[in-house]
Amino acid sequence: MKDIVAWTAMVTGYAQNAKPKEALEVFERMLDSGVGVDEVTLVGVVSACAQLGAAKYAEWVRDIADRSGFDPTKNVVVGSAFIDMYTKCGKLEDAYWVFRGMTERNVFSYSSMIVGFAMHGMWDDVSRVRMLMRKKGFKKNPACSMVEGQKGVIHEFFAGDMNHPKSVEIKKALEDLLARLKHQGYQPNLSSVPYNISDDQKKQLLMAHSEKLALAFGLISSCAGCVIRIVKNLRICEDCHVVMCGASEITGREIIIRDNLRFHHFRDGKCSCGNFWKPPETCCSRTAFPKLHHWMVKIVTHDAKGLGLNSYWGCDALS
Ligand SMILES: [Zn+2]
Ligand SMILES: [Zn+2]
Repeated sequence: MKDIVAWTAMVTGYAQNAKPKEALEVFERMLDSGVGVDEVTLVGVVSACAQLGAAKYAEWVRDIADRSGFDPTKNVVVGSAFIDMYTKCGKLEDAYWVFRGMTERNVFSYSSMIVGFAMHGMWDDVSRVRMLMRKKGFKKNPACSMVEGQKGVIHEFFAGDMNHPKSVEIKKALEDLLARLKHQGYQPNLSSVPYNISDDQKKQLLMAHSEKLALAFGLISSCAGCVIRIVKNLRICEDCHVVMCGASEITGREIIIRDNLRFHHFRDGKCSCGNFWKPPETCCSRTAFPKLHHWMVKIVTHDAKGLGLNSYWGCDALS
C-alpha cells in the first residue's frame, strides 16, 4: 500500500525526467488508489501536461485541481505551474486569467507570463508585465554558468560576459563550433529569446548565453576526450540544449550540465533527459575518442547569495 508521498515521488520523478506520459499513467493509478492529491503531486502533473503541450490535458488537469480543492489563483506554486502549462498548450487567455486573479505572485509567475506573451509576439503585454514585476521588486537572477578549467579551478560566466581573460579565444571557439553545427543544419532557435528585438540581435543574445561561453571555454581549455562539466543556476534554454547535443556529436566530447532542475548528460548527439538533436544528414565522419563509462561527477554548488563555492564528488545517477 503506497502512501501519497510515495505516489507523488513517482509522478514528479517521471515529470522531472522528461517522461510526461509515464507521469500521467502513474497519476491515474494514484487517483484510482484513492490516496488523494497534494500540492506537490499537482505541480508534477501540471508540468507533465506542459511538456505534452496539448490543450485537452490542460482542461483535464484543471478539472482535477478543482475537484481536489486547489484554486490556481489562491496557491502561488500551483498557479505559477498552471500559467506555464497554459502558455505551452496555446491557451494564453487562460494563463492570463490565472495570472490576473492571483492573490500572490512569485518570480516564476511573472516570468512564465512574460515568456507566454513573448511566444505569441505580444510585446506590449511583455513590457507591461515586466514593468509590473520590477515595480513589485522582483528581479530575475542573472544567468550564470560555471565550468571547471585546468587544475580544478572553477570559471564563472554570466550571459554576454566578455570579462574573461580568454574572451577572444572563447568567442572564436564558439563561432567555429556554431559554424560547424550550421553546416549540419543547426538554426538558432529565436523563440528562446523573449524580447522584441531584431533577429540579428536575438542571434547575438543567444550566442552569448552563459552555458555556451562555458562550453567554449571548456573546449579550449581541456584535453581532447575530457568530459566537460558545467553547472548553471537557471534552466538551460532550448537553443543551448540543441547546441550541446550537436557539440557532443561533432567534437566527440561528453558534456554534463547540471541546471536548476536536473542533470543533462550529452553524448553522441543525444541527451540523457530524452531530448536529442539529429542532424539532417550525417555526412561527416565521426572521430572516435576513448569513452569513459564509469566516472564520478564533480558537483559544484553555491549558496543563495552566489557566494562560497563548494564542490564534492558524486555519482551521476543518469550515467
Ligand atoms: Zn541558452
Ligand atoms: Zn537534456
